[in-house]
Amino acid sequence: MSTYNPYENVKTTIRNAAGKLGLEESDYIISLYPERELKVSFPVRMDNGSVRVFEGYRVQHSSARGPSKGGIRFHQDTDENEVKALAAWMTFKCAVVGIPYGGAKGGVTVDPFTLSRAELERVTRRFAAMITPIIGPERDIPAPDVNTNAEMMGWIMDTYSMLKGYAVPGVVTGKPIDIGGSLGRTEATGRGVSIITQEILKKLNMPIEKTRVVVQGMGNVGSISAKLINELGATIIGVGDVSSCLYKESGLDMSDILRFLSAKKGNLLKDYEQNGAKRITNEELLTLETDVLIPAALENQINAENAANIKAKVIIEAANGPTTVEADTILDSKNIIVVPDILANAGGVVVSYFEWVQNLQSFMWEEDEVNQKLAVKMCKAFDAVYGMHTEKKATLRTSAYMIALQKLVAAYKIRGIFP
Ligand code: GLU
Repeated sequence: MSTYNPYENVKTTIRNAAGKLGLEESDYIISLYPERELKVSFPVRMDNGSVRVFEGYRVQHSSARGPSKGGIRFHQDTDENEVKALAAWMTFKCAVVGIPYGGAKGGVTVDPFTLSRAELERVTRRFAAMITPIIGPERDIPAPDVNTNAEMMGWIMDTYSMLKGYAVPGVVTGKPIDIGGSLGRTEATGRGVSIITQEILKKLNMPIEKTRVVVQGMGNVGSISAKLINELGATIIGVGDVSSCLYKESGLDMSDILRFLSAKKGNLLKDYEQNGAKRITNEELLTLETDVLIPAALENQINAENAANIKAKVIIEAANGPTTVEADTILDSKNIIVVPDILANAGGVVVSYFEWVQNLQSFMWEEDEVNQKLAVKMCKAFDAVYGMHTEKKATLRTSAYMIALQKLVAAYKIRGIFP
């Protein structure tokens, strides 16, 4: 494995944007450091009676613009540097779309597919208890991320509420609707990706009906992005998950794929066949001849090793941190447009914000209202980033960071330094 450290990636991106804005280091230096980091180790009784100790993290990168906000992931490769980077990305994501939050992230180092349902619940609840001292609706609000879902958010809400002694729906977002979740939250990240895809294609004069799209990752974000973009008329020529990848130049039948994947927990592409679909490797998927490539899996997928072989015209980052700094330079030299994660995948946290607002007001919005408000926020952020890109001749990533950093630096300045 390489010594890839995503947190160094973030720092380089922040410094690039600060340089373009002509900021003094003292204006933004605080954004290079996470505000607070908690590492926890906790025992869980396994179904066979043995005891296993798990490690997890909650990193609050910033609370300059509001309570810190960000998901919790369960993954065997999750470590401190990954969670630190993910927390920082949340700060910049919330700033670029203009929602009143800082950034945070949590993670537990575990492959959740090796746990029984009861074990998964015990790990989730115990982790929630371990981070309870630093989370809360006014402090830090978790949400789903890789391998976590609404049901698990329900367990976190319940654990936190039990420890407090009263129901606190606003402690977590992405909850089931029955306990204060928002309509539209499950689809929100994918919906945001589809909105951003439409916006960038319009700018590039590429009609969506004539666009070929490849999606890496068939989790919540990848599958919903593929479904919505397909419904808008684009042809999905390639998809992949952890187990396998499929390619069909004339277009995959997405409804059939998604029906299969959602039919049973644990269903994977390796067990799926479609007439005329060819099985390819992950590297082949990423380097397919396509108009749009949507990485919707993990970090470090487009890197110095494969960037030169990428043939997509546009990359829309549905995952967090899928492209390394080295890859960015290579893609830019090939005139490949990269719509950065902090803009492209912000739909999830935008609707998380709506959920939290509904919780604080004990009021529920209709789904149409949620979706409309989401579209307004995404388009406004897109226009601002695109405007900066045209004005300053910066990449879309640098432009998005410039906009976010301006807002962050304004908050640092207005609040001043305590004491
Ligand atoms: N995990 C999602 C993200 O990376 C959503 C975070 C949230 O809703 O707080 O943006």
